[in-house]
Amino acid sequence: MFEELIEAWDGEAVVTHYERASGTWMFICLHSMRGGAAGGGTRMKVYPTPADGLRDAMRLSEAMSLKLAVARGPNGGGKAVLAVPSIPEGAERRALLLAYGDLVESLHGAFRTAPDMNTDDRDMDVIAERTRHVYGRSDAAGGAGTTGPDTAVGVFHGIRAAVAHAFGNDDLHGRRVVIQGAGGVGGALAPLLAEAGADVAIADVDAGRAEDVARRIGGAVVAAEAVLREPCDVFAPCAVGGVLDEYTIPTLRCRIVAGAANNQLSTDADADRLAAAGILYAPDFVINAGGVLHVVGLEMEGWSRARLDDELAGIGRTLGDIFQSADRGGVSTLQAAVDLAREREREAPRATPSAG
Ligand code: NAD
Repeated sequence: MFEELIEAWDGEAVVTHYERASGTWMFICLHSMRGGAAGGGTRMKVYPTPADGLRDAMRLSEAMSLKLAVARGPNGGGKAVLAVPSIPEGAERRALLLAYGDLVESLHGAFRTAPDMNTDDRDMDVIAERTRHVYGRSDAAGGAGTTGPDTAVGVFHGIRAAVAHAFGNDDLHGRRVVIQGAGGVGGALAPLLAEAGADVAIADVDAGRAEDVARRIGGAVVAAEAVLREPCDVFAPCAVGGVLDEYTIPTLRCRIVAGAANNQLSTDADADRLAAAGILYAPDFVINAGGVLHVVGLEMEGWSRARLDDELAGIGRTLGDIFQSADRGGVSTLQAAVDLAREREREAPRATPSAG
């Protein structure tokens, strides 16, 4: 099974390690070594089989290459998956992260990592005990801290750009936005939208989380299982990947899909399905680049907060260009975004800071 996946993949290298003590499969996928390294988060998750973990790491690392290219990041894309038998806590978690830190260090900087699903800044602090090729450490440890709030700012700019393209102006007053997922990104996006005048509704499988956010902003709660069918101007998927496919797209009742979740489309053909349904899709790897800009900008490039804010606003400008070029070329917004990534990949990569 691993052989078939690796043979079919267009990335540069896959590192696999089985960590016997915890029964964890570790996969590091180096999709592109542009600029001398591949960068991407470390996801910790329970998968049905180890091959499912490898497949996830491969697909996510491809998306990272596109994301970093569009965002003019210093490196190519990568991703690590820790396919655990169950999510560990305490000493067991620490031991696993240290073993993983050793694996990252053994690559001598070919892979640079940061938080992803089920890993956070404190986990990065532990990994940093074994390797310096780790970003997104806690504020207390001198890192850039959590990325969710800046990812939300980028998504907010992206939603404005999509609203401007679909409706002729970016005014959010009276626009209904339904957010799927009240976590680090969704929970930070909701107040930004509410402050800008949008009518916000939010759903989470953890209903208490959605209720907390709704209470804070004076918004509404939508049942998690009904969120795709909820009538709105903007549907913002900020929970899990793969929510849009040939079965769910016909049930959507929105004009725009614009949210943070990675790999929202089950397949690339879903971008054409959305376009055919008259739904404007903000490609995920463009609109959710705020977290990458936060980490790369603050920890690698030494940006000021003002520079970072401008780069986050740039996500909206880039999306506006993508929407226009999709219209001009008669292609999906996904295709227009991939074309932009390829164009930017051909440009000279930025110098890589030696501290990286
Ligand atoms: P998180 O784990 O903090 O929050 C996700 C929330 O979604 C949780 O509250 C969870 O209960 C909820 N959820 C899970 N399945 C759901 C479902 N089917 N319906 C409704 N709610 C559901 O994650 P996050 O950091 O907020 O990230 C959200 C998404 O954005 C993820 O797909 C992540 O990969 C992506 N993303 C995050 C960042 C970042 O900086 N945090 C950057 C880029 C992309």
